[in-house]
Amino acid sequence: MMQQICLDCGMSVSETMRYCPKCDNALNLQHDGSTVTVDIAHQGERVSEALQKMQSEIDLARKGVAKCIRLVVGSGLIRDEVLLELRDLSFRGDILGFEPESFNAGAVMVRLK
Ligand SMILES: [Zn+2]
Repeated sequence: MMQQICLDCGMSVSETMRYCPKCDNALNLQHDGSTVTVDIAHQGERVSEALQKMQSEIDLARKGVAKCIRLVVGSGLIRDEVLLELRDLSFRGDILGFEPESFNAGAVMVRLK
């Protein structure tokens, strides 16, 4: 079974647990303040491939300790579709929010925790 580490008390806990048995912290809300950057649009991806990549990267990142995931989406169709998809994820509560970067229109910051 996979283990995760409680960032609050350092206890090693089974991945399936939602609360730390030692300090009672909500494990799925813990983060280390970091941001992961993932490029989903610059290897000749089609829109559907880019969206799949985004979904799996978000799923992966939500299990990790990062606070945000930064999606590099380019400036074309992928970007438009990604923003629509993120709106859905946000409504469903899978992500906390998202915002296109003001200084770089080709990247979107997604708040996970
Ligand atoms: Zn703990």
